[in-house]
Amino acid sequence: MSRNFTALIGGVRFASRREGDYSRAMGLGAARQTVLVAGAAGFLGSHLVDRLLAEGYEVVGLDNLMTGDLVNLANAARDPHFHFQAGDVRDPLHVYAQIVFNFACPASPVHYQHDPYAAFTTSVMGAQRLIELARGRNSCRIIHASTSEVYGDPTVHPQPETYWGNVNPVGERSCYDEGKRGAETLLSDAGRVWGLDVRLVRIFNTYGPRMAFNDGRVVSNFIVQALEGRPVTLFGEGKQTRSFCFVDDLIEGFMRVSRLEKLDGPMNLGNPGEFTIAELANHVVELTKSGSKIEYRPLPADDPKQRRPDITKAQRLIHFQPKIDLRQGLQRTIDNFRERLAQRASA
Ligand code: UDP
Repeated sequence: MSRNFTALIGGVRFASRREGDYSRAMGLGAARQTVLVAGAAGFLGSHLVDRLLAEGYEVVGLDNLMTGDLVNLANAARDPHFHFQAGDVRDPLHVYAQIVFNFACPASPVHYQHDPYAAFTTSVMGAQRLIELARGRNSCRIIHASTSEVYGDPTVHPQPETYWGNVNPVGERSCYDEGKRGAETLLSDAGRVWGLDVRLVRIFNTYGPRMAFNDGRVVSNFIVQALEGRPVTLFGEGKQTRSFCFVDDLIEGFMRVSRLEKLDGPMNLGNPGEFTIAELANHVVELTKSGSKIEYRPLPADDPKQRRPDITKAQRLIHFQPKIDLRQGLQRTIDNFRERLAQRASA
């Protein structure tokens, strides 16, 4: 690992690699539940870490920093109840935790296609390691971040959890889609065979502050392009649709899933508001007050034509209801990007 992360976000505590109860290790008694977040330095993982700390958990964050960034943990690093472990979820896990959230996996097409082997193995071997952890002395609840990509290019719209999907097993997106499907299989079997408490959450497109500038995702691309006055790159004719969920709404959903008595089968989490990518481009250009023009580029292979979550199950079981609409969420995200771009320029 090339980074000197102690220097980068001075004061980050490194978790001991020995097995042990962090609450006890810190002399805090047994009151706080310990939670492991795998993929803690990523966009979603770091937002979850902040929320867990705010709610009084002892949090161990694991990340190999392949796509994550310790800057995302700058707030967490100031909290004595946060402990960072530099490590890979594919390696044996030496942590004691009552609850494990697994967000470890490169999640944007640019990142996972850069190293498809890592994307696939992180999903599947990561699931295996979590199962080993839960089957050992550390019987923990596993909340696994799966994805709407398990539905592929869906022929059923919107997508309920009962839909089995339409996925190309050998295409450019397969390392991610099939990796996540494989992880769901492995974890579901672990629930059936060994009775492990496994909860699968299928995340639909989520956006918000802290998204990486260079992750190639549509929201981050459009915002950076618009703020820098460059053309906004629209793939295909921009008629494909996505449903965009603001990060705080998604994290709220995860917290509720973690508190459920039990969860059978996967659960979709996302915002059912559906927009064409051309509509998204217009919103971003308008909200940034940018003079950017639209530049059309070829549609990538296997790009799903439409996507919208059926959230009936989440509404029924956890009363999930996203609160932030697209324009509100985009405005908050744009403000955050503007600030970070200014910091980068002055660094
Ligand atoms: N997209 C686009 N311009 C970009 C990046 C993405 O038009 O600069 C399109 C992409 O082809 C897809 C949609 O936006 O149809 C969402 O892409 P993203 O990579 O954010 O998410 P995913 O395809 O994984 O849902």
